[in-house]
Amino acid sequence: MPGEFDLIDILRARARGRPDVLLGIGDDAALLQVPPGHELALCTDTLVAGVHFPEDTAAADIGWKALAVNLSDLAAMAAEPAWLTLALSLPQADAAWLEGFADGLFELAAQAGIALVGGDTTRGPLTVTVTAAGLVPAGQALRRAGARPGDEVWVTGTLGDAAGALAQWRARGPASAKLRYRLDRPQPRLAAGRALRGLASACIDISDGLLADLGHVLAAAGCGARLDLGRLPTSQPLAQHFHERRRWELQLAGGDDYELCFTAPPGRALAIEQALAAAGAGATVIGQLHAGEGIELRTPEGEAWQPPARAGWRHFEGGA
Ligand code: ADP
Ligand code: MG
Repeated sequence: MPGEFDLIDILRARARGRPDVLLGIGDDAALLQVPPGHELALCTDTLVAGVHFPEDTAAADIGWKALAVNLSDLAAMAAEPAWLTLALSLPQADAAWLEGFADGLFELAAQAGIALVGGDTTRGPLTVTVTAAGLVPAGQALRRAGARPGDEVWVTGTLGDAAGALAQWRARGPASAKLRYRLDRPQPRLAAGRALRGLASACIDISDGLLADLGHVLAAAGCGARLDLGRLPTSQPLAQHFHERRRWELQLAGGDDYELCFTAPPGRALAIEQALAAAGAGATVIGQLHAGEGIELRTPEGEAWQPPARAGWRHFEGGA
C-alpha cells in the first residue's frame, strides 16, 4: 500500500510549473510571485462523493470537476487562473485511482494554465477541496454587485444540460451521453469572463441554478428581473430528451451548469457580442432587470409561469 508521501509524489510528478511559482510542492508553503498592478482572486470549493457527484463517477471526471468548479468562480470574476492547492481526503491509498484523478485534474490544469503548488493528503471519506488563485488587473474584476434596472440579463452557452443528465441518472432510464458529459466535464467560461471586463455590470457563475444565482445578483442590486422562457439557450440533446416545461424547470432550478450569468446596459450588447466572439465564446440575452423585486418568468405566449420545484440547491435543507 502506498503511503501519504507516495501519493503526494504521484501528484508532484505530474504537476507543471509556471515561472511565477518560486517554490511549489515540497515545502511548508508555496511561494508565489504576484505581478505588480494585479489583484489576487482566491476561491475554494469542495466536492463530496454522493453529494456533488454520483458515486459511480470516474476518477478522471472527479479530478476535472474539482478544478472546473473553482475555475468557474475565477471565470465569473474575470480572473486569469494561476495557482491551485488540493486537499484530498481518500478512503484508502489507491494509487490507480489517484492516477485517474490526476488525468482529469491535469488535463484541465494544462488547458487553463494553472499550476498545482501544494495541498494536503489525509484518510477519510472521499472529499476533494481545491483552492484556486487567479490574477486580475487591479480594479477590473467582475462582481455580483453592480447591476441596475434596465440592464439586460445574459447567459453564456446553454442551460440545463447537467441537470438533465442528473435527472436521467436518478431515473435509471435512458441517458444521453452528451448531457452526461456536460455534468462530468463542465467547461469553465474563462475566456468569456475575461472578455467581459469593462463591459458587464455584474457577473456570477451558475452553480446552484439560474434562479438562485441570478437571485444573488438581484439581491446585491436591490432590483427584480423579467425573463423570457422562450429565450433560454437550449442544447439539442436537452430539447430532444425533455418536454418544454420540464426543460424550463431543469434550466431554471437545476445546478451544475457552470455557465456565466451577467448583466449589462442594452447599449453594450454589440460590444459584448464582439468581445465574446473574439474570445470564441457566445451568450444570449434572456431578460431584463426592473426596479421591482423578484424574478418574473414569461412563456413565449406571454403568460406568467413558475417552476414547480424549489429554486436551486441548498445544503443543510434536504434535497434539491
Ligand atoms: P506539512 O506537514 O508541512 O503540512 P505535508 O506533509 O502535508 O506538509 O505535505 C508535504 C508537501 O506536499 C507540502 O508542500 C504540501 O503542500 C504538499 N502536498 C500534500 N498533499 C498534497 C496534495 N494533495 N496535492 C499537492 N500537494 C500536496
Ligand atoms: Mg499538511
